[in-house]
Amino acid sequence: MKQYLYETHLHTNEGSACAHNTGREMAYAYKEAGYTGIIVTNHNWGGNTCVDRSLPWQDWVQEFSKGYEQAYEAGKEIDLDVFFGWEAGYQGTEFLIYGLDKEWMLAHEELHDVTIEEQYALVKASGGIVVHAHPFRKEPYIPKIRLYPEYVDGVEAINATHSNSKSRSHNDPAFNEQAIAYAKKYNLPMTAGSDMHISNLFGGGMLFDHRLHSIKDFIDAVLSKSYIGLTDGETVMNFR
Ligand SMILES: [Zn+2]
Ligand SMILES: [Zn+2]
Repeated sequence: MKQYLYETHLHTNEGSACAHNTGREMAYAYKEAGYTGIIVTNHNWGGNTCVDRSLPWQDWVQEFSKGYEQAYEAGKEIDLDVFFGWEAGYQGTEFLIYGLDKEWMLAHEELHDVTIEEQYALVKASGGIVVHAHPFRKEPYIPKIRLYPEYVDGVEAINATHSNSKSRSHNDPAFNEQAIAYAKKYNLPMTAGSDMHISNLFGGGMLFDHRLHSIKDFIDAVLSKSYIGLTDGETVMNFR
């Protein structure tokens, strides 16, 4: 059976202060590594964004979207699917938002000040989904593990930085084991991503039995739990 590997969690240096490579460089690296597609999820204003927080909303969104746009343009050249997302931070608790785009963001300035509960309502009302990123990661920048099973659509069960042998940060496979158990306990869909900040890739992501032609296809596959594997780039958790 042919398998299609997608990255669900990655950063570029146009949007994230902690990232090293451009969207274009990341797109080429992912293509080279055999991925069919990627979702660009830079840090928003609640996280480690590198976009000036004092910019007016419209300008902020334009700047923030550049990493995705660069990756998307590169993706067209090399037949790599590139979708838009972001990672929303709340004092260290982070969520991956999928299914909404730059135009939606431009039209929803109220997003800037929503609580975690309001974020869920707003994203859902607009057709997107909220996934809790690395819910059990322990780091100084995460003062407290906070869980919101009723305000997410899924759980990032495998974050490759926790368990891939090439990772030089957040290394503790137990963070993934706890996330998998959490997802199972609440019967929530699981995702997997590498959380890459540099083009030296780990190979993590989600395996599907079909190509995803849009972010809607990704959401449908996640919500219906029709993914066939989750991987940190070294081991695969199979679902079929
Ligand atoms: Zn980061
Ligand atoms: Zn991240």
